[in-house]
Amino acid sequence: MSTIKGPIVCVVIGRTRHRMMQAEIQEAAKQGAKLIELRLDFLSRDPDFKRLLRDRPCPMVATIRRPSDGGRWNGTEDQRLRLLRHAIVAGFDFVDLEIDIIQQIPRFGTTQRIVSYHNLQGIPDNLEALHKQMCEEDADIVKIAVNAQTTTDNVRVLKLLKNPPKPTVAFCMGDLGTCSRLLGLRQGMPFTYGAFNKERHIAPGVQAFRDLQQIYRVDEIKPETKIFGVIGDPVAHSLSPLIHNAAFQARGIDARYVSFRVPRGELQSFLQAFREIPVEGYSVTLPQKEAAAKIADEKDEAVEVMGAANTLVATTKGFRAANTDAQAAIDSLKAHLPTPLQSRRVLLVGAGGVARAIAFGLKKEGVVTYVTNRTEERGVKLADEVGAKFVDWTARHATDCDTIINCTSVGMHPNVDESPLHHSCLNSGIFVFDTIYTPETTMLIRDARERGCPVLTGVDMFVRQAGLQFQMFTGQTPPLELMTDVVRKALSPVQARAAAPVEEAVPEAPATPRLIFLIGYRGAGKTTIAQLLADKLGWIWADADAVLEDRYGKSIKEIFAEEGEAGFRDREAAILEELCAYDCCVIATGGGVVLREDNRERLKLGPVVWLNAPADVLWQRLQSDSATAEQRPDLAQGGRAEIEELLRARMPLYDACQNLTLDATQSPEMIAELIGVWYQGEPEA
Ligand code: NAP
Repeated sequence: MSTIKGPIVCVVIGRTRHRMMQAEIQEAAKQGAKLIELRLDFLSRDPDFKRLLRDRPCPMVATIRRPSDGGRWNGTEDQRLRLLRHAIVAGFDFVDLEIDIIQQIPRFGTTQRIVSYHNLQGIPDNLEALHKQMCEEDADIVKIAVNAQTTTDNVRVLKLLKNPPKPTVAFCMGDLGTCSRLLGLRQGMPFTYGAFNKERHIAPGVQAFRDLQQIYRVDEIKPETKIFGVIGDPVAHSLSPLIHNAAFQARGIDARYVSFRVPRGELQSFLQAFREIPVEGYSVTLPQKEAAAKIADEKDEAVEVMGAANTLVATTKGFRAANTDAQAAIDSLKAHLPTPLQSRRVLLVGAGGVARAIAFGLKKEGVVTYVTNRTEERGVKLADEVGAKFVDWTARHATDCDTIINCTSVGMHPNVDESPLHHSCLNSGIFVFDTIYTPETTMLIRDARERGCPVLTGVDMFVRQAGLQFQMFTGQTPPLELMTDVVRKALSPVQARAAAPVEEAVPEAPATPRLIFLIGYRGAGKTTIAQLLADKLGWIWADADAVLEDRYGKSIKEIFAEEGEAGFRDREAAILEELCAYDCCVIATGGGVVLREDNRERLKLGPVVWLNAPADVLWQRLQSDSATAEQRPDLAQGGRAEIEELLRARMPLYDACQNLTLDATQSPEMIAELIGVWYQGEPEA
């Protein structure tokens, strides 16, 4: 029988080089790993077991996965079996043997045996019989990993964990199955798998070791731990697990909050099946908000009126539905507006779900409201429903209002260079609230700050709607400050990284950190491409100008006005120096970064990609972009001629710094793809 006292994380390490595997073993141990699986099929040459097991900090599992089971092994089956036998003789604590080879590898020494079954296609009809048969084999632990086809597959697999004859690790792969990797621990699974380096594509749906430890506190999960979660599709990037789990921990509540990917049309069957787990309450996001409102047997007033719910709480009979968005937005406005809400004239931009919630909230408060929307029909309908006045989309800039609330998705990641409004309509007295929180500082918020408007970002509303849910889930007051802090850290790649120093996050980081700098003139698309590229590489990204504004709490224009160009350049250099301390980061630099010698020296830390576009293209982009030359004093009044002149002066500097030059008139997606392919020409696969 297995010697593992769970629940713990089995940290999976897959690298092509021994040196990196060794480094990650030590680093994982420093971070608290109690069991490590070495994916030997990742190695680019035969494993040197002595080297890998030297200074072993905790029990180690040897695994050589075939491609048909999701691995990278490219030798013959005979060679694989021989290596597995060698791994046992070399003294691995555990060896992973697939069910079809278990008879061919005899037990030897003290090595414990994990008998495993993988199915990348789905779940076999005879799953339960197969599990029984595996438990009868000469194995210490049974592992079953199958691919979920529907959300309810998770429940079928989790049922295997009810008093199994042998310790069993059973879960669903893929993002439909991510929840089972955590829920199984509550049902008695001795461990769950966590990737040390998630970007190494260890297995579909596997979570990062660090997240399992820090967000989900896996080793404290007990059978009585309560479960909550978010349902929607997609949910992989939801910030809700982060803030709710942090809030549970802060309040000492024995509960965990998990993501459940529930595709359209599956809500009813999902809720029914997961009654067996059980789950106590859900946050609900797109596309399930309307379905959740229909399914609930009890509804609060906001759900009745709006026909959409963002919260479901389990009751003895079924579910109670609530909508905390409207209340959160109103609370947020009341807390930040300089004058009473009732005295304001509000322009709501957008007529989707969030606009609806806020419109109903404003109606309840008796606030004069205008609604504008790209699609007239939808906008008119909402305006009629709440007794507001509809403003044609083309006339939105001339609305007589003192408060603007953006409820469109314009400006949301990855289209961060867009804004739903031209900056010229943002007079300094207007209060601007952008409900978008990814990124927190949208182009609209930046424009508004530039024009001297008081602003409110979507983070406050997001935290408040989660706080109201927390109160419904637990009956306790939410730790709003902590929740805000957690969201801000998650949204800012720089701050998030600062909490986890480079040396800790990446073992044996190369002497020079892995950085890619994007240089080029304003309007070349650096920020958008930085995000797309970072997503592709599994890295973080930073927009140096945005970091600078956030850091000093002033717009670039204000810094220019107060300190002149020299003062601005000093601050820009300080931010670049700070960003260079990060590892695995794509940095969108300011257009003039190449002007200073010290900056050019720093750019040598990473490959530099110059996004080059002709002056007329840049000029056109800057004109249609709400962040036009007016915001940047260095662009002065000269328009296109000014850009041409500045470009002429900077071109030799861009050219001297670049390792790769790309035509920036191509689509951002194409450019990010090209850089990714070029960069990943590095030796490790
Ligand atoms: P939704 O129901 O899909 O509505 C999207 C709205 O954006 C519609 O009014 C749509 O106009 C408009 N829109 C989309 N693309 C546009 C474009 N290119 N030009 C002009 N208008 C465009 O989405 P939702 O659920 O309301 O969410 C909207 C935003 O709210 C999201 O981006 C999210 O960031 C934010 N949000 C914030 C919170 C928070 O707590 N802070 C919570 C949820 C959502 P049409 O009708 O013409 O398509």
